[in-house]
Amino acid sequence: MRQDFFHRLCEINSDAGQVLAGEPMSKHTTFRIGGPAKYFCLPKTKEQLSATIAACQEAGEDYYILGNGSNILVSDEGYQGVVIQLFQNMNELRCENCRLYAQAGVLLVKAAHQAGQNSLTGMEFASGIPGTIGGALVMNAGAYGGEMKDIVQEVTVLTREGKIIKLSRDELEMGYRTSVIAKKQYIVLDTVIQLSKGDPKEIEAGMQELKEARTSKQPLEYPSAGSTFKRPQGYFAGKLIMDAGLRGFQIGGAQVSEKHCGFVINTGGATAQDVLTLITHVQTEVERQFGVTLEMEIKTLGL
Ligand SMILES: Cc1cc2nc3c(=O)[nH]c(=O)nc-3n(C[C@H](O)[C@H](O)[C@H](O)COP(=O)(O)OP(=O)(O)OC[C@H]3O[C@@H](n4cnc5c(N)ncnc54)[C@H](O)[C@@H]3O)c2cc1C
Repeated sequence: MRQDFFHRLCEINSDAGQVLAGEPMSKHTTFRIGGPAKYFCLPKTKEQLSATIAACQEAGEDYYILGNGSNILVSDEGYQGVVIQLFQNMNELRCENCRLYAQAGVLLVKAAHQAGQNSLTGMEFASGIPGTIGGALVMNAGAYGGEMKDIVQEVTVLTREGKIIKLSRDELEMGYRTSVIAKKQYIVLDTVIQLSKGDPKEIEAGMQELKEARTSKQPLEYPSAGSTFKRPQGYFAGKLIMDAGLRGFQIGGAQVSEKHCGFVINTGGATAQDVLTLITHVQTEVERQFGVTLEMEIKTLGL
């Protein structure tokens, strides 16, 4: 039965190279943490993607959509299901007039730079976020005053029932780190991004400035999943953690970054359990000292 399912996945995804068994998730997450996925699929088309999901549903296998793995912590035991990764193979991008047409797996960094090269402004804020368009739309990623909701025009999604539908900007219900895509567990297939004409030199300079701001403030030299916690209303998570005396606090290989307390970093060999134990300790201390609840921004898989 297990062998049949593997062959079915290979059949759908054209060749065995697009389906891997026992693939370590540490290779596919920016935390560099995570045990093996039972199966790891790299569909090339939306037909392959929806057939892969249908096969999982038919066989009663769990599945999980992965972008670039930059906002996720995967269990040390891995995932007993099918991880479907979109960033390697579903990443077509084209620019027409003031619009970008991007598949879900396109990296934000690539889209922002392509926009700049085409004299389009509005996406500079996303040029340092290491995720895909799909991952960014699900959680309305944002930085330095910009958010995906400011530039998205339309998104095509696959519903849990296997239907493909288009959602307009208003239908996306985007809020702070949330959207209807997350609420209804839709899968982003592609999107249209609306930008406006600008001066390519100014756009490039804007992105360079943000890059310098990130490099000086964030621990980019270590593996992480970005901000560990959502911003609690009226506070900054990093400041609360620093004021709680937890700067540099370490469990195993996981550490509250000394450079930016809002980041948990992998100093080398951290396990998912180290990270989780550290996060729980930080949440407990901040709640005890300041009465503020820190909610995780990072998603977990298999935990
Ligand atoms: C150094 C660093 C800096 C960061 N800075 C920022 C920042 O400034 N602002 C910010 O908002 N975030 C930031 N992040 C976090 C992260 O990059 C974003 O959340 C990004 O949008 C995640 O995209 P991803 O493709 O990596 O998603 P993944 O981590 O692969 O997945 C995240 C979630 O999205 C879901 N998902 C992914 N693709 C799809 C899809 N096509 N359809 C449906 N669901 C999907 C997954 O199932 C999962 O639940 C940072 C991370 C790092 C490591």
